[in-house]
Amino acid sequence: MTQPAEITPRRVSIFGSTGSIGRNTLNVISHLGGREAFQVLAVTGKGNTDLLARQAMECGAQIAVTADETRYGDLKQALSGSGIEVAAGKAALIEAAERDTDWFMAGIVGMAGLAPTLAAARCGADIALANKECLVSAGELFHREIAHGGGRLLPVDSEHNAIHQIFDRSQPHSIERIILTASGGPFRSLDLAEMAAVSPDMAAAHPNWSMGIKISIDSASMFNKALEMIEAMHLFDMRPDQIEVIIHPQSVVHSMVGYSDGSVLAQLGTPDMRTAIGYSLAFPDRPSLPVERLDFARLAQLDFETPDEDRFPSLGLARRAMEAGGLSGAILNGAKEVALEAFIERHIGFLEMADIVASVMDRLGTGGAAVSIEAVYEADNAARLLARELVAARSAKSLVN
Ligand code: NAD
Ligand code: MG
Repeated sequence: MTQPAEITPRRVSIFGSTGSIGRNTLNVISHLGGREAFQVLAVTGKGNTDLLARQAMECGAQIAVTADETRYGDLKQALSGSGIEVAAGKAALIEAAERDTDWFMAGIVGMAGLAPTLAAARCGADIALANKECLVSAGELFHREIAHGGGRLLPVDSEHNAIHQIFDRSQPHSIERIILTASGGPFRSLDLAEMAAVSPDMAAAHPNWSMGIKISIDSASMFNKALEMIEAMHLFDMRPDQIEVIIHPQSVVHSMVGYSDGSVLAQLGTPDMRTAIGYSLAFPDRPSLPVERLDFARLAQLDFETPDEDRFPSLGLARRAMEAGGLSGAILNGAKEVALEAFIERHIGFLEMADIVASVMDRLGTGGAAVSIEAVYEADNAARLLARELVAARSAKSLVN
């Protein structure tokens, strides 16, 4: 009798495992066979060392890394006697990212995700990309590292994952356009005057997806979609004029691809990130996942409307950044981060976020070519610095008035 072939567990690393994407990733891994099927090399987090330690023990990780060096002692203690390696700090994150892994979940939020993800790409891991900054701020550089390492780039952001599922890679010339869907957020139907007066709490309430405050506000201002337009251009090698955005309040159609014969393909599903994560983990196979199935009869209707760029200027800013190229994406993103924090802290109003970003883009131009990670950090820093000055000037003015 022949023995069944021994299945080698796939080596995976989950960066940002304590976040929403990271927790969903561990959930998917456990549904798809857990330790039998996957060997978890690294899990990482920042503040929440208790959860990180628990995750590391549950999945049998080789190493747990916290980005926060002051939490090293806590993590070390929580994992003492477990045999799991412990490390802390930015350099440790990069070292862990360079471990020989087959699949790497880029689930760290913000610019902090850039260096570890670039390192994993350079070393040849398949990159499941949830982090937005890698493509928005460093698109060309990131592609270069992926090409150098020879791994695959598998988008996890639900729109790009949808497009990946329906994009006919054997006939890219037949693709005319990519249509990104956007929920439109909670202010879809407000007029300009009403939008000017919204508070951070109102902006944080997302109708369909449950997310953190920053991403919820980015969704309300459509800056999230703006970043996704830039991501889509880099991911699928499109021209800026081939990227469209349509508001679709139900978030059931996750995005669409339009072909030269007039066909439009769409990917649909319930809003659950585990579909995209599972797709990126099992690709090119389809995994079996316990996500809620779409019930069309219950849905009854799907709506679509054109976004109003006067009320959502972020979309026009994305187009500007895509056309300008170079480090414009890094500049847009850096300025947006500062403006977002200023809005959360109530220093500026909701619509002023786009004003700040536009002014920073006017003043800094393309910021040169994205030749190195240092150049990306420099553009990001310059944009943040200038945005802070602009926020301070506005706050001072509103105090005087
Ligand atoms: P989250 O805030 O829930 O988790 C972020 C993770 O990054 C946590 O593990 C946190 O500890 C870690 N982290 C935070 N700051 C860090 C730092 N300075 N250094 C190292 N690690 C740090 O965020 P999330 O919702 O899981 O999103 C992760 C990324 O995926 C984001 O870029 C987000 O835009 C993107 N994304 C998320 C969703 C979603 O539904 N949650 C959908 C699409 C894309
Ligand atoms: Mg998205």
